[in-house]
Amino acid sequence: MKIAAGKSILDRIGIGKIRIYKAPSYEISDRTVKDPEAELKRFDAALQKAIGQQDILYEKAKAEVGEENAEIFEAHRMMLEDEDLQGVTREIIREKKKSAEFAVKTAFDTYAQFFAELEDPYMQARSVDLIDIGNTVLDILTGSDPGSIQGTEPCILVADDLTPSETVRLDKSLLLGIITREGSANSHTAILARSMNLPALIQCRDVDDSWDGRMAILDGYNGCVYIDPDPDLLESMKKKYDAVLKEDELLQELRGRTGTTIDGRRIIIAANIGGPSDLGSVLANDAEGVGLFRSEFLYLNSKGEPTEEQQFAAYRRVVETLAPALVIMRTCDLGADKTVDYLNLEEEENPALGFRAIRICLTRKDFFKKQLRAMLRASAYGSMGIMFPMITSRWEVIEAKKILEECKEELRREGHRIGNFQTGIMVETPAAVFVADDLAEEVDFFSIGTNDLLQYTCAIDRQNEKLERFTDMHHPAVLRAIKMTVDAGHRHGIWVGICGELGADPALTETFLRMGVDELSVNAGSVLPLRRLVRSLDLSGAPEWSPEEV
Ligand code: PEP
Ligand code: MG
Repeated sequence: MKIAAGKSILDRIGIGKIRIYKAPSYEISDRTVKDPEAELKRFDAALQKAIGQQDILYEKAKAEVGEENAEIFEAHRMMLEDEDLQGVTREIIREKKKSAEFAVKTAFDTYAQFFAELEDPYMQARSVDLIDIGNTVLDILTGSDPGSIQGTEPCILVADDLTPSETVRLDKSLLLGIITREGSANSHTAILARSMNLPALIQCRDVDDSWDGRMAILDGYNGCVYIDPDPDLLESMKKKYDAVLKEDELLQELRGRTGTTIDGRRIIIAANIGGPSDLGSVLANDAEGVGLFRSEFLYLNSKGEPTEEQQFAAYRRVVETLAPALVIMRTCDLGADKTVDYLNLEEEENPALGFRAIRICLTRKDFFKKQLRAMLRASAYGSMGIMFPMITSRWEVIEAKKILEECKEELRREGHRIGNFQTGIMVETPAAVFVADDLAEEVDFFSIGTNDLLQYTCAIDRQNEKLERFTDMHHPAVLRAIKMTVDAGHRHGIWVGICGELGADPALTETFLRMGVDELSVNAGSVLPLRRLVRSLDLSGAPEWSPEEV
């Protein structure tokens, strides 16, 4: 038995024979032509056909993995339509009198190389897309058939790398898993594999041609693949595999149900998201809305500050898709570990205690207003909450709400529709816990950010790996702070949720119910397991949670 390690992108198991896939490689010679005009016509015809193919792939992907994930093929079409890229290719044909094949290979490879050398991992991953579309045009020019990737038997597919078109051409019903030598977690191939719910291992450097046809276990839980596994291991992994399938089936039975305990206590279980691209997983996991939309991801994924229109489009998409379920949008929580160059923030001695989140927004009012306007406009399309992060004092909430009011007035004057929305804050600093009664008078809800609450309460830098030994996720101070916040909220008639990672900790679900927490917002994959857990609990006769318990 041989074991090879890689980076797992999904906690699942695949068991079966390996099939090695070799992408066609093009030996394109440096050929000079007599009639560049004829070559230009060949290039144009191939380009149009390639663009048409992207539409077909888009429809196939949309049917199999949803509209969001299919968008990569729209992006491919846009790359093919890019005037610069076409211009460079045409120039090589016209000026240098080269064949269409050579011009395409040269131009597309140059662009791919340019992206590969960028620092941003997201942009780096786009180089694969350029190679992918370049190959599509070359397939057409050379008359080659891209061929079958998989064969007719179920297999674990192993490749150096897979382009998005190759991934979407795969027949999911015959696919047990994917292993690639290269690839990044940001690549669309990884995203597509994840949305197909397939175990996949990327960056598995030991991939070897001799694996072809051999039995293997892809263990996504441990990020490795076993080639020719021992019979004992095979048997135990088969059992684990069956248990995972059974678990999937059982969880699906919980769709449409609520998180209600046997004795009738109800808790909302919503999902945390970073943007519209997470909508698929919210729906797939039947979350009861979104309890935390980390809007700063929109800023982090953008080269410049997103415009009001760009933000509005993203927020509207989420709110409209999930309506009437509630979507809690957090205003941007930039600064500390989440920085963008275009904000020109100064280096700080203690960034976690520095100029971040609401502090940036209250200081740079125009920047803040752009986001609030986009959120308010999106509120007309569903049910929304607007939530301010990193609050420590009442005046911050009052000032943020005043700016929100200003935006409302402006939008009304401009004739925009605004829906009903709730206003809330994140309780994630000890100060907010201590003045929670005052803050509760200003808002409709609290959402407890346990990640930062732990960091600030226990003085544990959440970025520092060396502090693991000193980190107690269940620290009594944090649990008591949660209870104090819930009580303060309820005293003032507002609901209180938890949107930090602790919300998904099954060891604390019963505790949170006994504390009276109204909502848990967790990663989408935890929604159904948590719902099952809540439904298995019977708290009749259980006392209210008391701080003395910890
Ligand atoms: C938190 O602090 O618990 C939280 C949910 O926000 P973030 O992790 O984005 O800081
Ligand atoms: Mg936080």
